[in-house]
Amino acid sequence: MFDPMDRRNLLIGLAGAGPLAAAQTQARRGLPPLKITDVRTILTQAGGTHAVVVKVLTSEPGLYGVGCATHRERPLAVAAMLDQYVKPWLVGRNADEIEDIWQAAYLQPYFRSGPTGNNALSGVDGALWDILGKRTGVPVYQLLGGKVRAAVPLYAHSSALELPALVASVQKWMAQGYRHVRVQLATPGFSGYGVSGATTAEAVQKLRPEGVRPSEVFEPTPYVNNTIKMFDHLRAKLGFDVELLHDVHERVPPAQSLQLAKALEPHRLFFLEDAFAPEDVGWFQIMRQQTTTPLAMGELFVNRHEWLPLVVNRWIDFVRHHVSAVGGLNMARKIAACCEFFNVRTAWHGPSNVSPVGHAVNLHLDLATPNFGIQEQTIFNATAREVFPGTPEIRGGYMYPNDRPGLGIDVDEKAATRFPFQTPGGVRPSDRRLDGTIVRP
Ligand code: MG
Repeated sequence: MFDPMDRRNLLIGLAGAGPLAAAQTQARRGLPPLKITDVRTILTQAGGTHAVVVKVLTSEPGLYGVGCATHRERPLAVAAMLDQYVKPWLVGRNADEIEDIWQAAYLQPYFRSGPTGNNALSGVDGALWDILGKRTGVPVYQLLGGKVRAAVPLYAHSSALELPALVASVQKWMAQGYRHVRVQLATPGFSGYGVSGATTAEAVQKLRPEGVRPSEVFEPTPYVNNTIKMFDHLRAKLGFDVELLHDVHERVPPAQSLQLAKALEPHRLFFLEDAFAPEDVGWFQIMRQQTTTPLAMGELFVNRHEWLPLVVNRWIDFVRHHVSAVGGLNMARKIAACCEFFNVRTAWHGPSNVSPVGHAVNLHLDLATPNFGIQEQTIFNATAREVFPGTPEIRGGYMYPNDRPGLGIDVDEKAATRFPFQTPGGVRPSDRRLDGTIVRP
């Protein structure tokens, strides 16, 4: 079996004169050819979420890599892209040609830069970086230039139906060492984003017109009013030393989002997320000119034209890309580098709909990115950790690498089969306005 530590010993010549001479010869010639022999798509709901993980096997026995291709809502579409189109094209290629494979695979479907193709690309790309790390005996963050921080600061989620419970939840995280917490509070009587159990009250359902489609109800005005009250209360109770974040989740009309950002200015948020939908990003220029509230955006971005103007014009403070949805590590490292020149910081998407392998990719990027801002955390359960050995460790509000060569994470294919998909994909709630108009998820 291939052992990456053997490779490291070989390369640095610790194993004796013979291997040292071999390593020196090899260093002059570059790495020997390494063929891709198979591409496996692994679908599993281990730990709860629909994960799509790619395993790329090579001509060197025991040497393979893993990558995240998770689009929780449409995982089978990504699997078909991988199995039917990417794999037949990829097998036989040189595993070291990471950049060329990315560029060529990106162009393969002709129509490009959508979530299905990008996620498939990410699965392969992550695996190739993992292989290169194992081959050279170093963690992927070292291939990206090395650590610029010891560990990765995280933000936790606090959500509650009522204010006292919300305060207690934030205090619980603070007691564990967290300095950044995202806060979401249920709007009385209404459904809403980020607060499980916030169901629509009967009194609100009675306000709906005859013939309306049955649904949970979300209305922007009560939500905006309630969110301002929430921050008034939290700052009065918690002070200003804890960093608070909030996700609008693109749910309110642009002008109302502008009102919210301005009203929250005295509460000095760490960031306000997704104040607008990707379709409305032109509003960021207006918002930036009117408020100092820091702005984060981007988990739905798939195409560079969606985020480039926001970065180069300094209209936002944090990019929130879902790394697999933009094509994986190879694209994300370039996004981070682009953002560095404009002092826009990274805050990669990191909820449970990013697989543990995707979180490992985030970790390596975070460690090596000078303009890192914050990382959203997910605490994976024992099942997920069994299927994905090497899932990044979290302690005291920080995520730590295990310093194994490559991404430092694996997938136990046999264990994964015990947790097959229960449905074709994850489904998000479909709240509607009182009159029945659909609301963004
Ligand atoms: Mg979000």
